[in-house]
Amino acid sequence: MTLSTIIPLAYLVSAVLFILGIKRLGHPETAAGGNRLAGLGMLLAIIGTLLDQQILEFTWIIAGLAAGGLIGLVMAKTVKMTAMPEMVAIFNGFGGAASGMVAVGEYLRIIGTSGAPSVDSGVSIMVGTLIGSVTLSGSFIAYGKLKGIISGNAISNPIVRLLAILMALITVGAAVYLIGFETSLPIFWGLIAASLILGVLVVIPIGGADMPVVVALLNSYSGLAAAAAGFVLGNNALIISGALVGASGLILTSIMCRAMNRSLSNVLFSAFGSTAASGGGRGADGDKVAAEIGAEDSAMVLGYASQVVFVPGYGLAVAQAQHKIRELADMLTARGVNVRYCVHPVAGRMPGHMNVLLAEANVPYEQLCEPEDVNPDMENIDVAVVVGANDVVNPLARDDASSPIAGMPIIETDRAKICIVIKRSLSVGYAGIDNPLFYMPNNRMFFGDAADALAQIAEEVKQL
Ligand code: NDP
Repeated sequence: MTLSTIIPLAYLVSAVLFILGIKRLGHPETAAGGNRLAGLGMLLAIIGTLLDQQILEFTWIIAGLAAGGLIGLVMAKTVKMTAMPEMVAIFNGFGGAASGMVAVGEYLRIIGTSGAPSVDSGVSIMVGTLIGSVTLSGSFIAYGKLKGIISGNAISNPIVRLLAILMALITVGAAVYLIGFETSLPIFWGLIAASLILGVLVVIPIGGADMPVVVALLNSYSGLAAAAAGFVLGNNALIISGALVGASGLILTSIMCRAMNRSLSNVLFSAFGSTAASGGGRGADGDKVAAEIGAEDSAMVLGYASQVVFVPGYGLAVAQAQHKIRELADMLTARGVNVRYCVHPVAGRMPGHMNVLLAEANVPYEQLCEPEDVNPDMENIDVAVVVGANDVVNPLARDDASSPIAGMPIIETDRAKICIVIKRSLSVGYAGIDNPLFYMPNNRMFFGDAADALAQIAEEVKQL
């Protein structure tokens, strides 16, 4: 077998492994195996690429591998679990940057030899440069919003929209000119600058509860940029893997839109979640009073309940309370209580955030459920325990058409017989809106860090 057969074969097998890997990622039980399969596919694709005779110099590849590998290792070792969503946003950005740089490099190479790209290679170069640059700057804005450096609220301003339209027109116009008329380095740099500004302007207006859609969309863009880089280089493995990431990112975007009950155009073109934050007190807000509960009483209601639902949210991740929630749930299960964990698709700060945490604590899959499994039967739930969640249980989404999160399906713990909310204060969640659940007659606030609170309740359950 010659290299010209081995390389395409390696790419083909790697593509099959990617597809099988993604299929297996669809269920928690098979996900780890799916990840390994996809990793094997990536190894094959890398070996195939390294065998490619177009690679004349290994020095830069080894230097890049060493530097990138080292930075990646340090980042992976030092990143706090709570900072994972920001890290994912940065990875998307770097994915876009890498693909964009391939396209830029190819353009510079072609015009450096006083040539002009053919129409199809010109299209790949311009698409790769545009999507790569938009993904890079957009992902860094998403990073800033997730980290709290930039306001997480939607910034609704007609000037921002007009500027975005202008930048989109400039990039498309420049791309058409460079492909159809003549090569020009200044126009090409202008296209890159306009694309980078476009990425900022597209993500800046989106905020509040809409951020999961943006994160998923940027993930998809990074795949599309990689596919475009594959066309630039004529590399089938890159085209296939980029298309897979692009397509799965789009599917995730659509799942997130469904979770928010909003269309993609609605998310992208209308600001949402710009209500000013309020709350922040502990126990009372103006004339509203939130009733409190302690560990002993919580243990009593939980220990003698027959149906209990835990609702994890971002605070569970902050408190790293996944093992504590499982310990308490196991103790209740041992007492004959029917325990389930209800996971909202946008809970936490990245798609699948809660599922990852609960899987880390080996929560049995059969105890996991979705809002639509629990909501119809909520009146029969004896106790709903909301652990560090806020927006995903906010009844305003259902009851107030003028609310910034109106229409977003929630987990309706306000309809349970008793709801216990564990969080440190009455402050707002990511969308920045007050939550009337805290003041409802069937609700009790357990103020404190989620891990401490769950440990205290578990200690009391032991005494029952
Ligand atoms: P929220 O952000 O609405 O609320 C989290 C709550 O956790 C806060 O109100 C905070 O209250 C509490 N908390 C923080 N630290 C602790 C702690 N140590 N112990 C106990 N509680 C704690 O989270 P939800 O999961 O309900 O909703 C997710 C939100 O994030 C949605 O608006 C979603 O749209 C958005 N989002 C989701 C993304 C995704 O991909 N899933 C991406 C980006 C945004 P307190 O300070 O009082 O303790």
